[in-house]
Amino acid sequence: MPFKLPKRQTSGSVVCFSCQKLVSIEQKNCPQCGQANPGLWGYARPLRRLGADFGFIKIVLIGCILLYLITLLFDLPGVQSAGVMRLLMPSSYSLLVFGSTGAVPIFQWGRWWTVLSSGWLHGGLWHLGFNMAWLNYLSPMVARGYGAGRLVSIYTVTTVTSSLLTSSIAQYWITLPRSFSGASFSVGASGGVFGLLGALVIYGQLANQRQVLRQALTLTIISFVLSAFVGRVDHWGHVGGFVGGYLMGLMPGFNPTQPQRLYHLGIAIGALVVTLASLILSPIHALLIG
Ligand SMILES: [Zn+2]
Repeated sequence: MPFKLPKRQTSGSVVCFSCQKLVSIEQKNCPQCGQANPGLWGYARPLRRLGADFGFIKIVLIGCILLYLITLLFDLPGVQSAGVMRLLMPSSYSLLVFGSTGAVPIFQWGRWWTVLSSGWLHGGLWHLGFNMAWLNYLSPMVARGYGAGRLVSIYTVTTVTSSLLTSSIAQYWITLPRSFSGASFSVGASGGVFGLLGALVIYGQLANQRQVLRQALTLTIISFVLSAFVGRVDHWGHVGGFVGGYLMGLMPGFNPTQPQRLYHLGIAIGALVVTLASLILSPIHALLIG
């Protein structure tokens, strides 16, 4: 299917991206909520066609799958498989080059931007599959509660809080038993997945959406219990993501009972640019500078 640029809407009505009420595309300000450019210069409708998350999950899916293939191909002889559950694992070297995080990359090598890049890398086929399935399921729920712009910010920030917590625990709490220690090296989107779960829990509480709250709590408990049975799971990374997502819902501007505004979409674009920069900087630093 050829790629088509979205067509700008010039007539008719559109759902205001902020308050979700119908407005005329010609209206400069939403009569319901006062938001300027309620139709996003004619692009609100094509964006909404991509889903409640304005296509964000597609970007994550395509990005993570591409990076998984790149990390496999970059060091083909280093690819390992150990049984059905540990299929097609990119080499540690390859993951390091493209931005795995943890106490060693951050505190020993000064690769601080990996707090973000690591969320787009995966250590095996199942790791990738599970995380993408969770994201695909949770993203529309978070987008409906917070709006697409805030979803992108929550996902980006909680990827960082997840990496920071697990790396700091590994660096500064060295007396912890090995099975409870933080990560010296870590990759995966699960920090952001747990971030979305934390954001859904606080959304359920603040917006008094009991069904969402019950579902989010159940999914969170299932995720923590399930990952307890899988070896080599970054538990502190999960905690860091969840707490980060929960706290974000309490931040000014991120309260899900308030509608999202134009500046949230601006911050989301900024978050995507910073993420892309971290992913480009990683191999450049590793191969040319580091
Ligand atoms: Zn409105």
